Amino acid sequence: MSYDVVIIGAGMSGLAAGIRLAYYEKKVCILEKHSRPGGMNSFYNLQGRQFDVGLHAITNYVKKGTKNTPLSKLLKQLKLKYEDFALCEQKSSLISFPDVSLCFTNNFQTFEQEISDKFPSQKDNFYDLCKHISQFNELNLNSTPVSAREVVSSFISDPLLVEMLFCPLSYYGSAKEDDMDFDQFVIMFKSIFMEGFARPETGVRQIINVLLKKYKACGGELRLKTGVKHINSRNGKVKSITLTNGNVLETKKILSSAGYVETMRLTGEKIQPDNDRIGKLSFVETIYVLDREPTELGIDKAIIFYNDSKKFLYRKPDNMVDLSSGVICCPNNFYFDNSLPEGMIRTTHIANFDLWDNPSSNDYRAQKIFWQKKSLKKICGVVPDFTSSMVFTDMFTPKTIKRFTGRLNGAVYGSPRKIKNGKTPVENLFICGTDQGFMGIIGAMLSGISMANLHAMN
Ligand SMILES: Cc1cc2nc3c(=O)[nH]c(=O)nc-3n(C[C@H](O)[C@H](O)[C@H](O)COP(=O)(O)OP(=O)(O)OC[C@H]3O[C@@H](n4cnc5c(N)ncnc54)[C@H](O)[C@@H]3O)c2cc1C
Repeated sequence: MSYDVVIIGAGMSGLAAGIRLAYYEKKVCILEKHSRPGGMNSFYNLQGRQFDVGLHAITNYVKKGTKNTPLSKLLKQLKLKYEDFALCEQKSSLISFPDVSLCFTNNFQTFEQEISDKFPSQKDNFYDLCKHISQFNELNLNSTPVSAREVVSSFISDPLLVEMLFCPLSYYGSAKEDDMDFDQFVIMFKSIFMEGFARPETGVRQIINVLLKKYKACGGELRLKTGVKHINSRNGKVKSITLTNGNVLETKKILSSAGYVETMRLTGEKIQPDNDRIGKLSFVETIYVLDREPTELGIDKAIIFYNDSKKFLYRKPDNMVDLSSGVICCPNNFYFDNSLPEGMIRTTHIANFDLWDNPSSNDYRAQKIFWQKKSLKKICGVVPDFTSSMVFTDMFTPKTIKRFTGRLNGAVYGSPRKIKNGKTPVENLFICGTDQGFMGIIGAMLSGISMANLHAMN
């Protein structure tokens, strides 16, 4: 079997790239080792309930008709209608630090007002930072990385405000410990503060179903439960792919969303485990199903980013989990037409992959229970105690992320060194998705689109 393009991975970037290529009549096949599409943002069923693997919120929300934004460009490129993703806006979110919190909504003026109320001395500095961000071209594929902490601190002189800005942006899109590249900071700042959060009422299934339907309608082929075992190259050029079932596919080009190091290892390149291209940041995520709406318990925010001291640490922790900061998401607190069937709270903390990967399987289960209890206690100090309303919980760890996505170290945001132009040392092998540099659901789709446009159209 021979293809124009084979795409490794049916996550958000792979599906979006596939639509572009199939629409322009390329013979394209997406290979996905799992039984379901969606990648890191897939879905599952447990005890009669439907869960999203990861979805807290879709970033980059803008109202219908807003032009020249990531969401509108993405819909145009994928020939989708605004209504297809059925996005419903958040109510409001919060950055909560000791003694000060900042509320934000999808109206940026709310955030500006909060900053001028809580940090009056920084009002003009924040205005100047926003002006710099608005004029910055974060999509330049040839930019040199610059420390976001250095740039932001050159505008904002109150270190607490700097930490408060970094907390949500790091949690939702930084592969770097304790800093970000400034272009990534700008992407995240615009997508979270200047644009905003939304969710489809039915969760990530809505997005995946729309992408799948479009891809198939354009004539694309998807093979699930089909892992890539080896990328066969000769003289720096891919010739074929060997699948885990032993079959061999020929292809002119490959777009891989499996991660840079993960992909290069498929070519046979030896990359040591301590290589600085391998990401270190992973997370534990706990889902609590409640017998009532979180608002009935006094929890009315869509997303809360908390930190329990004035300094925000975003790095691989020495313990299995770092409870000093976290994200608390309430999927119910979006403006849906109908209420969700049950109340739900999702929590995220930074976690240490190596420590989760080590314990024996019994110990692993005991550690999950231990850390879930500790996390619950901590979270119930940030929001009103919801323990007596819990009817079901599920938790996953860095080990689960590695098992289901193949990401080394369970590193959700992949490598700290991004490959903006998608090129690899192999002439016709390209990277898209997380390790190309655009992250999150919207970012990954845009990455798939731009890498398909740049490398695989002719
Ligand atoms: C817990 C969690 C919560 C998140 N929450 C949000 C959120 O609320 N909002 C948001 O915008 N983003 C969120 N994200 C991030 C978002 O999910 C990712 O940035 C995005 O989905 C990445 O898409 P991708 O296509 O780059 O990679 P992936 O989703 O990792 O897709 C890569 C695919 O390649 C497949 N693959 C790998 N190796 C092979 C192989 N050898 N052969 C065949 N297939 C292979 C994998 O199985 C996978 O399906 C979250 C992520 C996690 C883990």
